[in-house]
Amino acid sequence: MTDLPDRYDPSAVEPRWYAEWERAGYFRADVDSPKQPYTIVMPPPNVTGSLHMGHALGLTIQDVLTRYHRMAGWNALWVPGTDHAGIATQVVVERQVAAEGMTKEELGREAFLARVWKWVEESSGTIKSQLRRLGASCDWGRERFTLDPGLTAAVREEFVRLYEEGLLYRDDRLINWCPRCQTVLSDLEVDREERDGEFVYIKYGPLTLGTVRPETKLGDTGLAVHPKDRRYRKYVGQTLTIPSVQGDIEIKVVADEAVDPKFGTGVIKVTPGHDPVDFEIGRRHGLPVRSVIGFDGKMTALAGTYAGMDRFECRRQIVADMQALGLIERIEPYRHAVGLCYRCKTVVEPLVSRQWFMNMQSMAEMAVKAVRSRRMRIVPRAWTKTYFHWMENIRPWCVSRQLWWGHRIPAWYCDADGSVHVARQDLTACPQCGGALRQDPDVLDTWFSSGLWPFSTLGWPQETADLKTFYPTSVLVTGYDIIFFWVARMAMLGLKFMGDVPFRDVFLHTIVRDPEGQKMSKTKGNVVDPLLFMEQYGTDAFRFTLAALSVPGVRDIRIAEERVEGSRNFANKVWNAARFVLANLDGYDPRLARKSAPSVADRWIRSRLAATARTVRASLDRYRFNDAASAVYQFLWHEFCDWYLEIAKRSLYQTEDRAARARTQKTLVETLETTLRLLHPFMPFITEEIWQKLPHEGPSIMIAPFPKAGRGATDTAAEAEMDVAVALASAIRTVRSESRVPPAAEVAVTVRPPAAAAGYEAAAPLVGALTRARVSVVPGAERPPRSALAVAAGAEVYVHMEGAVDLAAERARLTREIERAQKEIAFLQGKLARPEFVERAPADVVARERSRLVEQEAVRATLAASLAALA
Ligand SMILES: [Zn+2]
Ligand SMILES: [Zn+2]
Repeated sequence: MTDLPDRYDPSAVEPRWYAEWERAGYFRADVDSPKQPYTIVMPPPNVTGSLHMGHALGLTIQDVLTRYHRMAGWNALWVPGTDHAGIATQVVVERQVAAEGMTKEELGREAFLARVWKWVEESSGTIKSQLRRLGASCDWGRERFTLDPGLTAAVREEFVRLYEEGLLYRDDRLINWCPRCQTVLSDLEVDREERDGEFVYIKYGPLTLGTVRPETKLGDTGLAVHPKDRRYRKYVGQTLTIPSVQGDIEIKVVADEAVDPKFGTGVIKVTPGHDPVDFEIGRRHGLPVRSVIGFDGKMTALAGTYAGMDRFECRRQIVADMQALGLIERIEPYRHAVGLCYRCKTVVEPLVSRQWFMNMQSMAEMAVKAVRSRRMRIVPRAWTKTYFHWMENIRPWCVSRQLWWGHRIPAWYCDADGSVHVARQDLTACPQCGGALRQDPDVLDTWFSSGLWPFSTLGWPQETADLKTFYPTSVLVTGYDIIFFWVARMAMLGLKFMGDVPFRDVFLHTIVRDPEGQKMSKTKGNVVDPLLFMEQYGTDAFRFTLAALSVPGVRDIRIAEERVEGSRNFANKVWNAARFVLANLDGYDPRLARKSAPSVADRWIRSRLAATARTVRASLDRYRFNDAASAVYQFLWHEFCDWYLEIAKRSLYQTEDRAARARTQKTLVETLETTLRLLHPFMPFITEEIWQKLPHEGPSIMIAPFPKAGRGATDTAAEAEMDVAVALASAIRTVRSESRVPPAAEVAVTVRPPAAAAGYEAAAPLVGALTRARVSVVPGAERPPRSALAVAAGAEVYVHMEGAVDLAAERARLTREIERAQKEIAFLQGKLARPEFVERAPADVVARERSRLVEQEAVRATLAASLAALA
């Protein structure tokens, strides 16, 4: 047998195995396999990005699921890919170009895009090598990029089909505009933040109304009241001439249900160019649109004397001017929600613009039905409600973005005859007049292409073998923060284009926070780099920690270094257990083992192993990664290392019974080998390294069968007997240590079993061997003098102190200890009796002192009992 080095060094093991697995083709899925498919498509990380904690958690979960199913006999496919991340990528290259003193317009569209492609090629290696570093067992032969030619064809197909069905259309609508990023934002891309502002009451002739954005007053084209509001009924339908900052204006009063009569004065000004509600009111009543704020965030020519002024500057100026003219009734402080660009936090300006929109209504209905009928399951279930709510209130999705980097909109305009053409292939001349065409300069929202990801990655719109075999996919694993951006859109588009759900399950994992519970962000400077953890503690330890922290229903997990350190200790424990087993395999002959009946400990550890395998499988099937990880941990550390290895030593070191020794060796090897297979999905590297050195079947642990508890694997009798032995041995060990019995000293122990209980006699030799004790089981025994008492497994356990300890010295020590505890108790009681302490000290300080008192009282009781036992 080859020996393992003394110390486990992940950096010497991990890189070697990934390369070997990849070379051997173990990550590849086969369309011709008779096995049942199990598919995951990887949420594509940004192509130019690098691995962060959120990725690490999601990818670890996906890899655990993929490795588990691959081993459990499925045709497992994990499709990797990266995303072109429209705006994020374009902004980086824009900055590079700006650093050279140029703008992207000066460079031109083609040259600029060439620069972006170059940068993508240079930087796309980082994330992919980090995925390998993490151990991701994805099928690299099927890797996709959201801008690759296949996906471009898919996006064109999507666009053309939706356009032909009338679900995709161009419209002048009020959109969210970021004046800094110079692009439209979808409703989801606008963050809401409460801010302090002013509610300005403006006199409008005979009426008064309030607004938080007085600068938009210049764009007013109407006033609106509720149809049932008696106060204003007489004005409805009239056109009022109203004195304003730039002379008199004519303004029409309309009645509309959208007005809340109880808000403010019950009158609102209608500014169709700058407010979504007003835009709708304006459409209903035929009011003109007046855009007084431009796409640059400055006032337009329509703002008259304010033209060219910044929108917020104009707000201050116009209030001052109106005050001077006596047009302001009063100003009140007002806290309200302001829309901010999710990327740059600039205040979003609602503006009217001609954009492409997608009508999602019918698709949303299908997506709701799919979840209601359980064709698609959301785990944890609590998210289902959120999903329904969003789907049931869905609005048209603005899909055009004023960017260059991305899928360019496949629409061409003819300026000669005004015709619009949408096509799968690029058009060069107008099909109507043969004249020149202009392609829409905008690109599509990133999610327009990622929404197709579960089937575009498998070859759609072509009917490929991959698509037939692996769609619908089995599960989508992603963070809950993109349930609307992405999960909902994949659900809708999958049902629309494939006629079936894109995935059977959606597992929404937690968000990783720093140890203080803060969301990690570059601006806060609290980002923990997953690579640092991997370097310091090993990838296996890091992965194990992430899985162990993944508790369903818990929204946020905090990652503290101590947790990863704890997992590293577990890896070392596994390593040391393996070293012990390998060091004791000389002369191992499995055939010889059959000549010896298994001991109760052999039978017990096999039964516990079967129970562990059952728990791991059941937990993984229910996405309870923490339960699965904890089951292997508990079994390996406590049952296998703490007890079985101790017991095994006895038979390994006595060589008279060679068959019994071989039997122990066989149990050791089989238990360890099986446990490694259970642990492999979590800790792929260390398990492979050890497995290769143990007797095993097959070329790699990653394609070895996943352990399954067979029928009759549970040995109730052995478990009951070992439960007694473990409980008695633990009790005796506690007494030994509390009574300061020297480790080498042998003690006599009398066990008085409960009436009519079997199994104690049988356990006695094992208990004795584990605790350096001569154990006798005596039904109805009296407690001997000078003995310590413990109660365990329903029995009374008497540990004889005579001869085991120096009685006089031990009595003196116990007396001193009792005095010390007594002093401490008196001090604490005194402190807690003083009202000025109890009332004035912080509650947690008082509570701490109380619990110290309880602790010291317990210590005194234990010491007193020990002293009494020696009397
Ligand atoms: Zn912005
Ligand atoms: Zn034409």
